[in-house]
Amino acid sequence: ASLAALDGTVPAPHRVQDRNLPEPPAPREGFSSTPDTDPAVAANRAWGRAVLEQVPASRAGVETVAAAAVRTEEQLDRVIDAALEQGRGWAALSGAQRAEVLHRAGDALAARRAELLEVAAAEAGKTLDQADPEISEAVDFAHYYAERARELDDVDGAVFVPSRLTVVTPPWNFPVAIPAGSALAALAAGSPVVFKPAGPTRRCGAVVAEALWEALDASGISRDVLALVDLEERALGRQLISHPAVDRLILTGAYETAELFRSFRPDLPLLAETSGKNALIVTPSADFDLAAKDVAYSAFGHAGQKCSAASLVILVGSVAESRRFRNQLVDAVTSLTVDYPTNPAAQMGPLTEPAEGKLLKALTTLDDGESWLVEPEQLDGSGRLWSPGVRTGVKRGSEFHHVEYFGPVLGVMTAETIEEAVAIQNEVEYGLTAGLHSLDPQEIGYWLDTVQAGNLYVNRHITGAIVQRQPFGGWKKSAVGPGTKAGGPNYLMGLGEWEPAALRG
Ligand code: GLU
Repeated sequence: ASLAALDGTVPAPHRVQDRNLPEPPAPREGFSSTPDTDPAVAANRAWGRAVLEQVPASRAGVETVAAAAVRTEEQLDRVIDAALEQGRGWAALSGAQRAEVLHRAGDALAARRAELLEVAAAEAGKTLDQADPEISEAVDFAHYYAERARELDDVDGAVFVPSRLTVVTPPWNFPVAIPAGSALAALAAGSPVVFKPAGPTRRCGAVVAEALWEALDASGISRDVLALVDLEERALGRQLISHPAVDRLILTGAYETAELFRSFRPDLPLLAETSGKNALIVTPSADFDLAAKDVAYSAFGHAGQKCSAASLVILVGSVAESRRFRNQLVDAVTSLTVDYPTNPAAQMGPLTEPAEGKLLKALTTLDDGESWLVEPEQLDGSGRLWSPGVRTGVKRGSEFHHVEYFGPVLGVMTAETIEEAVAIQNEVEYGLTAGLHSLDPQEIGYWLDTVQAGNLYVNRHITGAIVQRQPFGGWKKSAVGPGTKAGGPNYLMGLGEWEPAALRG
């Protein structure tokens, strides 16, 4: 079954521009990053508007997924058997042969940019400026892992034995790049995949699966090596994760979800990227204009619904008293355009679900000694659309210092010295992303040596890792598993085992 073509009338973007980043140290053969759609080009803006005009109508499309996906537990057994059956042939291909299929998958994803933008807007509330790079990232994963698959052929005296069956359970906040990246990594390593999209973003999952199936079809490979399933999490846990053939799980989600899956099956090898409580430090030597802009982008892109988002900014020494920095930050935050993604100019979209529980509390109440620098407001009756909030006076050891909220609220903390700032940054139990704004090489060196997080960004916003340039993975409670980073050179190695060639004859 195939999804209806949603973008038939939308022309392709005319011109794109690279992301203006420095060249990576050693560019690898066969891979260069996919450019995003350049919003400075008028024709691209027209293209974006045309894509987003289709969003209201596309909300009706959920039933198309039902036709494509496994819905019952009986079907699931059959799908697992078929994946195992076809998976043997898939694993027996050389890495170079699998690379051809992955490159095709990258092309098929790139060809669906309009459709993916539309479903990401409809299901996840992703604004154009957030969804477009995510699609580039999905395409990058395909071409990058294709090249890494080739390397699996190259090791003398050892054979890479992939997992027999990999289960992929991505989150709803990156409904294109994370499922695509996880499934493509497992396929590149030679493992068949059972892919369960997150509940709120099933159509995104189906469009990703369709792109990968198209590549499999074009290569004469059975679609059974990538099964799309649409089961409840608990049913999935009980039946799928307990299945003896499943010997790897790639999960991106809350730390609690990793624990839930572990409770279903304690011995299951898990590659999980989990929660974060991420802070950016700004020192007196920083470029304040850039720092304020990067803090706002890191905290409020996708309404803060990223594991990588900045939840805290720590102002060092005189920055705490600096009116200039404070004004810059307030300007950067209050000038964000907050709206539903059908507005192509929106920079901060809605929450995927109405704010409730700890997030609602963080948006509406202050702790002792805190005050609003920018008070968040609920902008309509949906409970989903909030303007950004910035609270100052957040105390070390307070609830806001430690809890992940996954929404549009930033806390400002202060520290006398950079040493104290790093201590504040490291005191949280997670270690996903961290940022430093400083133009002082000594401060930068000290910070790089002492901060405990998987992804470190100096003088840059702290979300939006780019494949190969910033391999992405967590430390401390932000990761469960071997610690290999997505989009990095070792990720495929975490998806199988090396055996001495002699053992295999
Ligand atoms: N890779 C994403 C980024 O760098 C974050 C992924 C997540 O939030 O799970 O922003």
